[in-house]
Amino acid sequence: MIELKSLTKEYKDKVAVDDLSFNIKPGVVTGFLGPNGAGKSTTMRMILNLVKPSKGEVIIDGEHYINLNQPIFKIGALIDADALNPKLTSFQHLQLIATASGISKDRVIEMLKKTGLEKVKNKKIGEYSLGMRQRLGIAAALLGDPETIILDEPFNGLDVDGINWLRSLIKDLAKQGKAVLVSSHLMSEVEAVAERIIVLAQGRLIADMSVEEISEKSFSGYLRIKSENNSKLEDILKKNKAYISKEGEDTLQVRKIEAEKAGILAKENNIAIFELTKVQPSLEQLFLELTEGKVDYKSN
Ligand code: ADP
Ligand code: MG
Repeated sequence: MIELKSLTKEYKDKVAVDDLSFNIKPGVVTGFLGPNGAGKSTTMRMILNLVKPSKGEVIIDGEHYINLNQPIFKIGALIDADALNPKLTSFQHLQLIATASGISKDRVIEMLKKTGLEKVKNKKIGEYSLGMRQRLGIAAALLGDPETIILDEPFNGLDVDGINWLRSLIKDLAKQGKAVLVSSHLMSEVEAVAERIIVLAQGRLIADMSVEEISEKSFSGYLRIKSENNSKLEDILKKNKAYISKEGEDTLQVRKIEAEKAGILAKENNIAIFELTKVQPSLEQLFLELTEGKVDYKSN
């Protein structure tokens, strides 16, 4: 397990990560969401000891990263698909890492197969597409068969087949009991794989919930109601502290009241209901609302 404790990173004129605390649990895929500039990459880099926290700490299975005996067997990561030597082939790249850590050549071949790179293993990385470099980064992350896997925007540059492939790979890793942290600026990319969603905006934690909880807590959900007498119903609902807006001529959008309560109030007042629908926002909408006004357009 990985524990983030009050993790903070301050740059000269910017707090990139602000007092962030959460745990990454084994056997679970955790989606790490936030608009561009939210601080996702900085957090992941701090977990991997690539960026030094200004405050706070990261504990990996009870240890600080620097005290890990051989980190590659504990924690694997895809951080920057462009930080590769373009002159090497993918086989050479992986073999270098493997040799340095006493990992067998068989494991290198196995990971090339697993990531669909076997056919291009002798081509130079400089000729690879972003999607292929992402696959190579994932192969490197898995080389040491680590218990924790950190993937920073791994869906970038993947085509539809690649996205589906990566989704099933990620699910598989969690099934094997591994802790997987996957970042994205798009809810749609992670909602299909993540059980738990952590949302970051302007360096701060704004949500940490299961996917079900996040849609249940949908404060932006509403009731769509059509009735025999909308104006009378509107008055009654308002008296019961509901918030009403109109959707077209004959439809009310009703917030802050339960569907059951609205239905009973209509019945008690002899108003026939023609339609009463619960409208739930998509996770994507919810994510946009959560992070609204918190997008930092200055960063990449
Ligand atoms: P994300 O990965 O969520 O898009 P980042 O962690 O890359 O966000 O960046 C968070 C904020 O910190 C951004 O405003 C970014 O410009 C800033 N930042 C990141 N790295 C540095 C750095 N080395 N120096 C100064 N500011 C940085
Ligand atoms: Mg990033």
